[in-house]
Amino acid sequence: MSLVVYFEKFIMKTLLLKNAKVVLPYETTDNTALLIEGEQIAEIFTETTNFRADKEINLTNCKILAGFVDLHNHGAVGVDVNSATAEDLQKVSRFLATKGVTAWIPTIVPDAFENYRKVIDATDEAIVIQESGKPATQILGVHYEGVFANEKMCGALRPEFFKTFRNGDEIAEMPRLTTSNAVHLTTLAPEVEGGIELVKELKKQNWIVSIGHTKADFTTLEKAFAAGASHVTHLFNAMTGIHHRDIGVAGWALTNEKISCEIIADGIHIAPPILKFAYKNKQADNLALVSDSVAPTGLGDGDFKLWNEKISVVNGKTQNERGSIAGSVITMLDAVKMMSSLGISTEDVSRMASFAPAKVLGIDKSYGSIVVGKRADLVAIDEKGHVKLTIVGGRIAFTDM
Ligand SMILES: [Zn+2]
Repeated sequence: MSLVVYFEKFIMKTLLLKNAKVVLPYETTDNTALLIEGEQIAEIFTETTNFRADKEINLTNCKILAGFVDLHNHGAVGVDVNSATAEDLQKVSRFLATKGVTAWIPTIVPDAFENYRKVIDATDEAIVIQESGKPATQILGVHYEGVFANEKMCGALRPEFFKTFRNGDEIAEMPRLTTSNAVHLTTLAPEVEGGIELVKELKKQNWIVSIGHTKADFTTLEKAFAAGASHVTHLFNAMTGIHHRDIGVAGWALTNEKISCEIIADGIHIAPPILKFAYKNKQADNLALVSDSVAPTGLGDGDFKLWNEKISVVNGKTQNERGSIAGSVITMLDAVKMMSSLGISTEDVSRMASFAPAKVLGIDKSYGSIVVGKRADLVAIDEKGHVKLTIVGGRIAFTDM
């Protein structure tokens, strides 16, 4: 660590953000100042007093929200997580910081074991770099989407790499990060051979288990939930829908009050009225917005190669050669704008973009909302919806002021 970084990080510095609207969990306050001390939110003043800080930033006409947390992201700006180096992951982190995202989980699609090993090593390396280097969106862990999925519900995933659970060695084939506190999340179909045992075993090994890419019936879903599955991956997509006599995976996810869901809020994977329906049903704290972003995000329309297939992006919609939507090209900022356009309150949209995903990861005590004592992960957005400032762990990761 360089001396400059050492001083920035460990000498308690104060930063005052003033004259802003601040989006708290249940209300938005005007003319508010927010004091950051080191990595944390130290105080929130409803009136600016004569307080002096080491650095002050005037945010008149801006709203400060908790920084966005993206649970499901396969990459952006030309980087695909499955083949990323540590520097590639940092490149995504720098891009996401410009969009108000303060934490993300690189998400791996089913692949050959050697590739998992490489991505995990790269992620460990990227986490070390970000802890000592320039501030950028924080990598919190890893999400294996699939491996144990139903090939009839593969979506854009490659079924040739899917596995069933037979003797336990299969879990060891998903390498883990060595960084302490790193989150390990996996999406699985509980109806695969040995599925319920698999959920139990993963829970025992401290994995967060999410249900997705599945056609499981009601009984299997209930068993998976009892065994420790706590979340549902991209609600409605790559799962059975709702029928009034056969409620399907989506129907189960909507009617089980204890399970949280994530939803791709791009207006393409899900029709906007259904986004609103999901919000009304699950409530903000149990519905996490995700991007499901893929490598072309941030590059505009065009043809790209992804997961050994050609994909085209036309008017912001992805399609692979099999005719499937292959992820999205949005960021969490677009998801926030989409949900806001449906007339949902800013506080609730903010909780879906920050608090709900932090809760899924079990880190909501320190992440996900603007509360004194929590980590200073923040985004300031102006009246036109542009990100002006992104703060990650009390340090400025992006500014456009
Ligand atoms: Zn995905």
